[in-house]
Amino acid sequence: MKVTVVVGGVGGARFLQGVKRALGLPGAEHRVTAVVNTGDDVWLHGLRICPDLDTCMYTLGGGIDTERGWGRTGETWTVREELAAYGAGSEWFGLGDRDIATHLVRTRMLRAGYPLSAVTEALCARWQPGVDLLPMSDDRVETHVVVDDPDTGQRQAIHFQEWWIRHQAALPAHSIVPVGAEESTPAPGVLDAVADADIVLLAPSNPVVSVGTVLAVPGIRTALAKTAAPVVGISPIVADRPVRGMADACLTAIGVATTAEAVGRHYGSRRDGEGLLDGWLVHTGDGAEVPGVEVRAVPLLMSDVDATAEMVRAAFSVAGVSVD
Ligand code: GDP
Ligand code: CA
Repeated sequence: MKVTVVVGGVGGARFLQGVKRALGLPGAEHRVTAVVNTGDDVWLHGLRICPDLDTCMYTLGGGIDTERGWGRTGETWTVREELAAYGAGSEWFGLGDRDIATHLVRTRMLRAGYPLSAVTEALCARWQPGVDLLPMSDDRVETHVVVDDPDTGQRQAIHFQEWWIRHQAALPAHSIVPVGAEESTPAPGVLDAVADADIVLLAPSNPVVSVGTVLAVPGIRTALAKTAAPVVGISPIVADRPVRGMADACLTAIGVATTAEAVGRHYGSRRDGEGLLDGWLVHTGDGAEVPGVEVRAVPLLMSDVDATAEMVRAAFSVAGVSVD
């Protein structure tokens, strides 16, 4: 069976652990491909940082700090302290010593001319995540958020990471723009992974700045609309709130209510030729009506890998797909 999953960082990575468990990976003959958001990527201190790719790679490869949910386990922060002593640190983005090695290898390879997809494959040779991690695009796409500067009141666009981490998404966003997306193309393998899948899943990732950014790469939305595989989404909104993080601030910025129903309607039904979904999973107790979409309510809390695998089985079931 071929399963293709559209993912962001922490929510996506945890969901992928459940996909692997539900399929009996490693060991079984199934193949999982993750199409990963790269709109959060940023240059810092001359290094290329890919937060969502790294979160997926570390989580699935056993290198993640499980308490923080991002970065390396056993991390130390000597470089950050030394940079701060020069007054050259970044107060809002912490790079750990172990993590920096990943960014050094990535940056060196990018500078040597390798595309991000090839770099990711090389990094994964160490981590063996057990799924094919594909960046959504090899092109530079960076999500920016249009806000009013808290000091001057002037309207300006800032990098998504600055808004998310430094401002904790508390500055109201006028709009959220995936800069560069229009001119980008899907990374090698992305369109085929959607077209050839037996089922496509939209992880319970941020609908705006994770899944939404992947969909902004020309060609990906059409591939999802056209694939012969059923497409099932899983709601990241439970009881009218994001389970973790500040997705509500992103949804507000695009005029979508923070409910499982509103996000399901935002993705829309494939039947009308415009939307993405055949099936939509919401959390037990969350009612949702999405015209043209089979909605099912099941527990959607990824409290451990088994609970997450159960969510994945529900997604297979709503699509009428069975694992051998
Ligand atoms: P990020 O890139 O690290 O922000 O991670 P993602 O975009 O992949 O996922 C973030 C989303 O995951 C948030 O909007 C959360 O609401 C959602 N999320 C986190 N944990 C859970 C969970 O246990 N269940 C569900 N349904 N959603 C979750
Ligand atoms: Ca992210």
